[in-house]
Amino acid sequence: MSVFCIVDDKHVPLYRVVWVAATPHFCGSDSCQREGCYEVRLEQGEVVWASHKERDQLLEALEDWAGGAGPADEEEDESWH
Ligand SMILES: [Zn+2]
Repeated sequence: MSVFCIVDDKHVPLYRVVWVAATPHFCGSDSCQREGCYEVRLEQGEVVWASHKERDQLLEALEDWAGGAGPADEEEDESWH
């Protein structure tokens, strides 16, 4: 699979993503162009803005890239008991 995911017409390397917003952006500004978009923070304080669909694709790509969610998570839970 590709190490890139397209966000806002840019090929964003997955390893540069620091975090992805869980809720759409809202700041109340009339001139805001990013309302309803999801903030994606990259290294060095850079930000790209993802549509809902792009955000879902990005999260999926990040999970695959990181080895996938699932059994590994369950094992982690076990260690707490
Ligand atoms: Zn805004």
